[in-house]
Amino acid sequence: MTKARSAVLAAVDEASGPVSAGDVHGILGENADLVTVYRALHWLADAAYVEEFAFACEERGVERYYVSKRHPHGHFFHCEGCHRFLPVEGCFAGEIVAALERERGFKVLTHTLYFTGYCPDCAAVRAAPGAGRDCGEPPTGAS
Ligand SMILES: [Zn+2]
Ligand SMILES: [Zn+2]
Ligand SMILES: [Zn+2]
Repeated sequence: MTKARSAVLAAVDEASGPVSAGDVHGILGENADLVTVYRALHWLADAAYVEEFAFACEERGVERYYVSKRHPHGHFFHCEGCHRFLPVEGCFAGEIVAALERERGFKVLTHTLYFTGYCPDCAAVRAAPGAGRDCGEPPTGAS
């Protein structure tokens, strides 16, 4: 494996959740340009070193994310404020899978489950007084 590919793989493996090409570029800094990161991620996904998926987020639209195969089966929470993926411990799908197999006759092999919303930091910012208002807004009623 080339130096660039192994550096990109290490960045994905060390991340606590899925990362985008931009995230990896941010981690590696000046050591790798964005095009190299994109290519390396593609190669790593094709060679099954990392898992690739597309994720649609309200603000950013569809982005490709990469997650380490070292992560055991896990689920993630995507924050729509800071666009981080935060790991969610455990799996809640067991009962749903069992019901689908029992009631619908499906043989479920795998599933993906994501939560989206605001992380505690972003939720606090949004709840703060004055949040969402422009700083330069003139006071109402004054003339
Ligand atoms: Zn957040
Ligand atoms: Zn997002
Ligand atoms: Zn699960």
